[in-house]
Amino acid sequence: MPPIASDQIDTNAASNNVPLDAVIVGAGFAGLYMLHRLNEMGLNARVIEAAPDVGGTWYWNRYPGAQCDIESMQYSYQFSEELQQEWNWKQRYASQPEILEYMQHVADRFDLRKNITFETRVTTATYDEHTSRWSVKTDKGEELSTRFFILAVGCLSTTLLPQTEESFDFKGQVYHTGKWPDEGVDFTGKKVGVIGTGSSGVQIIPNIAKEATHLSVFQRTAGYVVPAQNRPLDSEEVSEIKSGYGELRAKAKASPIAFIFPMHTDSALDASEEQRQERFEQQWEIGGLPFAAAFGDLLTNDKANELVVEFWRSKMREIVKDAVTADLLTPDQVYGCKRIPSGTNYFETYNRPNVSLVDVSGTGIEKFTEKGILAKGKEHELDAIVMATGFDALTGSVIRIDITGIDGAKISEKWSDGPANYIGLAVSGFPNMFNMLGPGCPGVLATMVTGAEHQGDWIADCIAWMDRTEKQSIEADLDAETAWVKEVHDLGMKSIRSTCSSWYVGANVPGKAHVFMPYAGGFPSYVARCDDIAKRNYKGFSFS
Ligand code: FAD
Ligand code: NAP
Repeated sequence: MPPIASDQIDTNAASNNVPLDAVIVGAGFAGLYMLHRLNEMGLNARVIEAAPDVGGTWYWNRYPGAQCDIESMQYSYQFSEELQQEWNWKQRYASQPEILEYMQHVADRFDLRKNITFETRVTTATYDEHTSRWSVKTDKGEELSTRFFILAVGCLSTTLLPQTEESFDFKGQVYHTGKWPDEGVDFTGKKVGVIGTGSSGVQIIPNIAKEATHLSVFQRTAGYVVPAQNRPLDSEEVSEIKSGYGELRAKAKASPIAFIFPMHTDSALDASEEQRQERFEQQWEIGGLPFAAAFGDLLTNDKANELVVEFWRSKMREIVKDAVTADLLTPDQVYGCKRIPSGTNYFETYNRPNVSLVDVSGTGIEKFTEKGILAKGKEHELDAIVMATGFDALTGSVIRIDITGIDGAKISEKWSDGPANYIGLAVSGFPNMFNMLGPGCPGVLATMVTGAEHQGDWIADCIAWMDRTEKQSIEADLDAETAWVKEVHDLGMKSIRSTCSSWYVGANVPGKAHVFMPYAGGFPSYVARCDDIAKRNYKGFSFS
């Protein structure tokens, strides 16, 4: 079914005398599931989505090589047994087109499109204390009145470009991985520069190298890339998973990261040199994120961490032929403090004669000249530049909406020293507003589809409870919020992810508060906390 354009439907159900119960911003995994739940409850909900179709991340990030790094049979919805039994994933890690097709299928199968307005951006949202309703405005000039305002805007949906003091003079083509053109890009015969070697850069670099006349990779920080070891799924393995899908899902939800793979819990320090090598080799063959679970203490013990780094270096040096390039590709941070990228032929790409690695450590990019990029005093002439430079993560898409709560409070001001909320879902001073998969929840440290379903269920149950008990509005108490923020901070300080400069701590955005934003206590503890709060009649919340 083709997407419905905003001018084809009446976006303001309120104008048909049917007041909106909820406006949901975003039609990614979170927004789609939220809409489905509210539809099931018979509520009048509408999704507003900036893109022309569903998919969120998987609509925008259609760069060559984009794929998930959590196995598709787990990185998918589990709310419908029929859906998970009938959908057939083709690859261990599905690529972007396959995930987008799946999300389009979900939208059609559960008849969600009729409640989605595409190609429309929410610009402002203002709470009215007298009516306990939100007034939501869009860039198409509509004004919607709604009881609940639900942000499913994405944790990695506001793209970032490199900041330089100088003007941007480049006259060639410029692309960002997170806003890839629908029609694709042909780099044949072009001199291309890629800036960034995080997860997106690692996926796109080998693909551009196959097409471009020359590819220059501008690297500021090297990463511990591990081969994804992606492969087609065979029907036997799929049937086996499907025959015990419920059990697999339950085990996954009991894991801190909400997904499972072959994990070892013994210490790297207790193993002999030979046992260690054998285990590292085994886990390298499994590839991707599971490599970090070769032993139980690689991310918690400095000595164990040094051992995995040593093995990783030996592997990388086996692949990369040029010693200077191999040196540049060797990270100096501890293993695991940044998200570990999964790659396919990533290091092999640097052996190609048409690829060069440009070290921009420390300085970053100095200037975008008319002809290319100036870095460390040298100008690199280019026809096209690909920004794989990441996102204003977790808070970026929330604060870009002008949100006004009680007494004129602005979310952007409230969060200027770091995001504050209660159980990652509600913000004091902003009643009847829920934020999905943002700061203060395990979201980005776990399988996000599972996280979306959990939060969607919690919000839907909360609304149902409010209706049963005749409550008009819900607001997080400031004391409860302050205690939650402290807990998130204290747990974060124990996580290896908080120890180096990355988007997890807001370090990639100039001027952003340096705060570790996700809840690092693990998915099951988070779920238990949310359940407990609900059971105690939503302890920590006030109602009117
Ligand atoms: P999104 O999918 O980001 O959807 C949010 C939507 O909100 C967007 O479509 C956006 O256009 C819309 N929006 C935002 N602001 C507005 C506004 N003001 N008005 C209207 N619309 C708005 N996670 C994993 O768990 N496993 C993975 O393997 C994985 N791989 C990833 C690969 C890439 C390339 C990226 C970028 C992220 C990946 N992630 C992965 C994280 C991924 O973002 C989440 O898994 C998940 O897709 C997020 O879903 P969401 O619905 O919360 O947000
Ligand atoms: P990212 O991890 O933030 O990486 C951005 C890259 O750009 C980094 O290498 C960064 O260098 C570099 N950079 C930024 N500004 C620069 C500048 N001015 N000069 C030079 N280099 C600059 O962003 P991402 O790669 O898009 O990934 C973001 C997140 O999306 C991931 O962590 C992951 O959660 C998700 N993702 C997942 C997958 C997957 O495999 N499933 C794929 C893509 C994305 P520094 O490190 O020095 O800052």
